[in-house]
Amino acid sequence: MPRIPDRRINKVAAAVGTALALAAVTAFGVAPLREAELPPPETIVESLELKPEVTATPDTFVQSERVRRGETVASLLERLGAADAQFLKFAANDPVARRLLQLQSGRSVTAEVDASGRVLWLQYRHGKLNASEPEKATRLTIRRDDERFEAVDEPAPVERHVEMAAMVINSSLFAATDAAGVPESIAAKVADILDAEIDLRRDLRRGAQLRIVYETLREADSLSAPEATRVLAVQLRNAGKRHEAVWFDRGGDGNGEGEYFRFDGSSLRKAFLRNPLEFSRVSSGFSNGRMHPLHGNMRAHKGVDFAAPAGAPVRASGDGVVEFVGKQRGYGNVIVLRHRDGISTLYAHLRGFAGTLVAGDKVQQGELIGFVGSTGWATGPHLHYEFMVDGKHVDPMTVAFGESEPLSLLERARFRAGTGELVARIGQLDPLRLAANFE
Ligand SMILES: [Zn+2]
Repeated sequence: MPRIPDRRINKVAAAVGTALALAAVTAFGVAPLREAELPPPETIVESLELKPEVTATPDTFVQSERVRRGETVASLLERLGAADAQFLKFAANDPVARRLLQLQSGRSVTAEVDASGRVLWLQYRHGKLNASEPEKATRLTIRRDDERFEAVDEPAPVERHVEMAAMVINSSLFAATDAAGVPESIAAKVADILDAEIDLRRDLRRGAQLRIVYETLREADSLSAPEATRVLAVQLRNAGKRHEAVWFDRGGDGNGEGEYFRFDGSSLRKAFLRNPLEFSRVSSGFSNGRMHPLHGNMRAHKGVDFAAPAGAPVRASGDGVVEFVGKQRGYGNVIVLRHRDGISTLYAHLRGFAGTLVAGDKVQQGELIGFVGSTGWATGPHLHYEFMVDGKHVDPMTVAFGESEPLSLLERARFRAGTGELVARIGQLDPLRLAANFE
């Protein structure tokens, strides 16, 4: 191991798994410890080196940009260092190239521009990077051939990378993942997954070890940054207990409808999320109608109110079918979902609904269905949430949720074959052992 001058960065050659082609291990030290008895926090991030295959000739340069909100082709070209009237004319008139006129914010554009500002080629990836449907990452390529252009629209080559991070938690889960450079979307997903097992606000102990393996997708032959798509495995060692989850596509049809299981294949996912909002608190609890001590009248609150800002995303708490979506007196904009075992859930006072949600649509647990608002009889923005079993209201915060269906024998065999290597690798990620190497 080489000497590390400032204890901050160290590259270690890693044993490379076949399925997980990992090229390097980088360890980042974090701030010095205040408590001597705590193990030093260390982070390991493993990833393939993202070396772009795009190369420019000496007189040209290649650049990638994200499309900004309200951007025009002209303003985009300017940012790419191009001034090319011929190109603009072609993009405005060619039936394929015209796609460029409908720039979508957040998507990536890569172009090679020569010293005189002419566009040699430009790639606009307008399809979304999606783990289960990589072929949907479609891309428009406009290529110059002297004074002529040609345009093609086809699926972009997509690279899948597996990233690993191991960390010691000293304050909160999010502080640790943030320090480790784990994308926010992945950290939020990890919190959701672990939520089925442990109350992260109350039960997390200092010195807990967290290991995360997640997937990123990157448009090959582009300079744009990879996008985090899903958590593949997570392991938390906390207060002498081990909490773990690994993603498994139980249908095996590659449609991305996977679930999380414990490493032994037992079901982890609860049939319902306790909270249809991320990061919110209960502002008014459930009450089944009892005499109010002062007013002497019956007061019932047959649901739970969650405080949240207007526009906060509301998620389906379980897999189900949309039974009602629309307006109802009092409830304002409301959604009712029907689930298995005679259960239904209701989401009221919404500002609006997600996409083109209609009655009869299938929704998955965690799927965006609407946005917090204050429609109907509501004094301010909040989510009113009801949970019904056979038409009878129960308290969603205390009702026992069943687990999702266990794996069949056949699925178990596929599970072991499909997740074995990942499970073995995550156990080898050791923040403490690497920390010891620095001393
Ligand atoms: Zn309410």
